[in-house]
Amino acid sequence: MSLKNSPILISACLLGINSRYNGTNALNRDIIKQYSNRCLIPVCPEQLGGLPTPRPRAEIHMEQVIDANGRDVTGEFKKGADVVLKIARLLNVKKAVLKEKSPSCGVRLIYNNRRLVGGMGITARLLEEHGVVIEGAD
Ligand code: SF4
Repeated sequence: MSLKNSPILISACLLGINSRYNGTNALNRDIIKQYSNRCLIPVCPEQLGGLPTPRPRAEIHMEQVIDANGRDVTGEFKKGADVVLKIARLLNVKKAVLKEKSPSCGVRLIYNNRRLVGGMGITARLLEEHGVVIEGAD
């Protein structure tokens, strides 16, 4: 299957699903319209990693993910990324559209001490390392 007609993974919150840490979504109608002729597969790596919604906001610090309560949630974030990669492989996904600025899905920007800095989320990085083309959306 080519890049042009294989399914596309998309951050669930971009489709309007209330999967964000604070129970909201990040509906992006432009992205939905842009890919209206493609099969979009919604994924939320943080939920797939076993975290509840809502949940404390979290940030990447060095190689760890720490939530606002000081809890180390690196394991859940990595587990979610692994599940998303598994889905990508099962469905022969070549492209993912991911929510910018998230510690899981961020493509170019993530938060550090509540300030935006350059960096990739855990899932975005894993997918890219395995050859999936990543597009960021906000
Ligand atoms: Fe959206 Fe990704 Fe955060 Fe889930 S982990 S709410 S899909 S940005």
